Amino acid sequence: MQTTAATTKKKQGFYIEVGCPGCGGSLELEDDFFVLDCNHCGSVLRVTMPAVPPAYVVHSNIDQRELRFKIDRHLKENNLPLTNSQLHVKRIYYPYWKIDAIVLKIRNRIDTREIVSEDGESQGETVETRKTDITLAPYTLTVAAGDEIDGVPSSLGLRSEYLKIRPYSVDNVQDEFHALPVIIPWERAFDAANSSASSTNMIEIAAFGRNSTELFMPRASIVYMPILLTETYGSGGVTRYVVDGVTGRVLNNEQRQEREVERLGDPVPIEFGQLGVDFHRCGNCGVDLPPVQSYVYVCNNCFQATYLEQNSAVTQQILVADDPRAEKDGLYPFWVMSLAGSDQAAIRRLFGGIYDSDSLVIPAFRMANFETVYRLTRRMSSAYPKLSTAELAEFDRRAMPATLGPTEAQVLAGVMIAREKAARQGKFEGSAEPVMPVSMRLLYLPFHPESYFMVDSVIQTVTFEKNQVPSAR
Ligand SMILES: [Zn+2]
Ligand SMILES: [Zn+2]
Repeated sequence: MQTTAATTKKKQGFYIEVGCPGCGGSLELEDDFFVLDCNHCGSVLRVTMPAVPPAYVVHSNIDQRELRFKIDRHLKENNLPLTNSQLHVKRIYYPYWKIDAIVLKIRNRIDTREIVSEDGESQGETVETRKTDITLAPYTLTVAAGDEIDGVPSSLGLRSEYLKIRPYSVDNVQDEFHALPVIIPWERAFDAANSSASSTNMIEIAAFGRNSTELFMPRASIVYMPILLTETYGSGGVTRYVVDGVTGRVLNNEQRQEREVERLGDPVPIEFGQLGVDFHRCGNCGVDLPPVQSYVYVCNNCFQATYLEQNSAVTQQILVADDPRAEKDGLYPFWVMSLAGSDQAAIRRLFGGIYDSDSLVIPAFRMANFETVYRLTRRMSSAYPKLSTAELAEFDRRAMPATLGPTEAQVLAGVMIAREKAARQGKFEGSAEPVMPVSMRLLYLPFHPESYFMVDSVIQTVTFEKNQVPSAR
């Protein structure tokens, strides 16, 4: 699973550049960051994603001289004669769907171990144990969204360089560039992403049962990449070069019968969603909220909760199970999912004796690996009926951020139920449905450190490994 550790990594991949609504300064944000400080004016801001996929554009800095240089170098490297004729260039923005999702991978394998006697001698016998590995990880894929053009890649692949993407707007389109229309609908792009993800099942063959790879919570955006379609006209006919407008790399060159550069028509206007940048303030009284990544904020002025993800199951009420001695402890957030009668029965059967409640309680913070989330969910779900809870009445500075949103929690809960089934039945069906609770609310429980663990401060029975949470204190 993804962790939220703020590691000092090399800048690579996509960064979004947006304007600060406070001072107009330009801000750069990473994909999964949605609350930030403006480093020009200090405003606390949050980014809102539109319901309709937004579009971004990547600028090109390759001028005519550099283009000539890159093409010459490509020709030299491939032992081709250099060209002296003029370069005819059509500068286009080619659209790609960028799909961000969560991938769930279930892999069934068999562990084989040799039986060794007490004196260390091998008996020539082995034991086989069935193992099911479950991982959840972020997944990004790009798929061509425009009309097919020879030599233009069908995907952006894994780009190691840093790519600054700007919201697509009239102001952000460079002179001489034409954006090609998007002709592949989003549904088809998602199907392509799905089959690309599940094709890994073919490579990693299940030792028993069925392997599975599924995408959840897909989000789509369009990224316009600059491509320089370049042609030279000589006695041998037309030679065309497809050049990456960011790196200047020649992606493809070929002899052609006819000129194509002129054939491409004018762009067709399409409506895209607009990324919003707003002041990160309490929805009720308007004071600034803390600049930390969280899906839930309690205002320190009016004590109202602001939720950053709209999820119809989530109620306004926030619960806390507290202990007066826990005043220095961290309050860790959990999603309490109240289940419908039929689901309760099914889950009670599954979780057997340890489970005596109508709710599934899962961590609302990210942990380093799935098995830890699974164990903590089991412990919290069985501990929940023993906790006496009250409504959180005011801002509490001990509260840790809820870094796992409600929808992602529903997906995760479904995966855990599938995991539980696998453990009990010895086989994994290879699919997981998100859990649909009747209602969902946040619960805070204090934890304190004890050697390598965090231990709950109320009933002292719920624990998790300290190293599973970067922010454990
Ligand atoms: Zn600013
Ligand atoms: Zn407020």
